[in-house]
Amino acid sequence: MPYIQKHKDAVYLDINPFSGDRDVDISHYKCKLVTTRKEHVCCGNYLKTQHNIPSGTKVFFEKAFLDGPVSSYFCLKCYDKYLEDNEVL
Ligand SMILES: [Zn+2]
Repeated sequence: MPYIQKHKDAVYLDINPFSGDRDVDISHYKCKLVTTRKEHVCCGNYLKTQHNIPSGTKVFFEKAFLDGPVSSYFCLKCYDKYLEDNEVL
Protein backbone atom coordinates (compact mmCIF):
# COMPACT_ATOMS: atom_id res chain seq x y z
CA MET A 1 0.00 0.00 0.00
CA PRO A 2 1.60 3.27 -1.03
CA TYR A 3 1.42 6.06 1.50
CA ILE A 4 -1.23 8.67 0.73
CA GLN A 5 0.14 12.15 1.23
CA LYS A 6 -1.99 14.41 3.40
CA HIS A 7 -1.39 17.68 1.60
CA LYS A 8 -1.07 19.15 -1.86
CA ASP A 9 2.32 19.08 -3.52
CA ALA A 10 2.70 22.85 -3.21
CA VAL A 11 2.46 22.62 0.57
CA TYR A 12 5.50 20.37 0.75
CA LEU A 13 7.49 22.62 -1.51
CA ASP A 14 6.52 25.86 0.22
CA ILE A 15 7.33 24.76 3.72
CA ASN A 16 10.83 23.61 3.36
CA PRO A 17 11.60 21.90 6.65
CA PHE A 18 15.32 22.33 6.22
CA SER A 19 15.51 25.88 4.96
CA GLY A 20 15.87 27.51 8.38
CA ASP A 21 18.37 25.03 9.60
CA ARG A 22 21.52 25.75 7.70
CA ASP A 23 24.69 27.01 9.23
CA VAL A 24 26.81 26.56 6.17
CA ASP A 25 26.93 28.14 2.78
CA ILE A 26 25.25 26.14 0.14
CA SER A 27 24.70 26.93 -3.46
CA HIS A 28 22.63 25.60 -6.30
CA TYR A 29 19.95 24.57 -3.88
CA LYS A 30 16.94 22.86 -5.40
CA CYS A 31 14.08 20.93 -3.97
CA LYS A 32 11.30 19.08 -5.67
CA LEU A 33 8.97 16.16 -5.31
CA VAL A 34 10.17 13.13 -7.17
CA THR A 35 9.36 9.48 -7.48
CA THR A 36 12.37 7.41 -6.52
CA ARG A 37 13.81 4.97 -8.98
CA LYS A 38 15.81 3.03 -6.45
CA GLU A 39 15.92 2.56 -2.73
CA HIS A 40 17.23 5.44 -0.61
CA VAL A 41 17.69 6.10 3.07
CA CYS A 42 15.15 8.58 4.37
CA CYS A 43 16.81 11.59 6.00
CA GLY A 44 13.85 12.16 8.31
CA ASN A 45 13.83 10.60 11.71
CA TYR A 46 10.30 11.62 12.51
CA LEU A 47 9.23 8.05 12.62
CA LYS A 48 11.95 7.44 15.21
CA THR A 49 13.63 4.77 13.22
CA GLN A 50 15.96 5.07 10.36
CA HIS A 51 14.32 3.54 7.37
CA ASN A 52 14.68 3.08 3.68
CA ILE A 53 12.37 4.46 1.08
CA PRO A 54 11.48 1.81 -1.48
CA SER A 55 11.79 2.61 -5.15
CA GLY A 56 8.69 4.08 -6.73
CA THR A 57 7.87 6.24 -3.72
CA LYS A 58 7.09 9.93 -4.00
CA VAL A 59 9.49 11.91 -1.83
CA PHE A 60 10.74 15.40 -1.09
CA PHE A 61 14.13 15.59 -2.74
CA GLU A 62 16.77 18.22 -2.19
CA LYS A 63 20.07 18.81 -3.78
CA ALA A 64 22.73 21.43 -3.39
CA PHE A 65 26.39 22.07 -3.72
CA LEU A 66 28.46 22.05 -0.54
CA ASP A 67 32.09 21.12 -1.03
CA GLY A 68 30.61 18.67 -3.49
CA PRO A 69 27.16 17.73 -4.65
CA VAL A 70 24.85 16.57 -1.88
CA SER A 71 21.31 15.31 -1.99
CA SER A 72 18.75 13.96 0.39
CA TYR A 73 15.45 12.17 0.30
CA PHE A 74 12.69 12.78 2.80
CA CYS A 75 9.61 10.57 2.63
CA LEU A 76 6.20 12.21 2.80
CA LYS A 77 5.23 10.02 5.71
CA CYS A 78 7.98 11.66 7.75
CA TYR A 79 7.15 15.02 6.27
CA ASP A 80 3.52 14.75 7.33
CA LYS A 81 4.66 13.74 10.79
CA TYR A 82 6.95 16.73 10.90
CA LEU A 83 4.11 19.08 9.91
CA GLU A 84 1.88 17.59 12.57
CA ASP A 85 4.47 17.68 15.36
CA ASN A 86 5.49 21.23 14.63
CA GLU A 87 1.99 22.48 13.93
CA VAL A 88 3.29 24.11 10.81
CA LEU A 89 -0.06 24.27 9.06
ZN1 LIG B 1 10.87 8.81 6.19
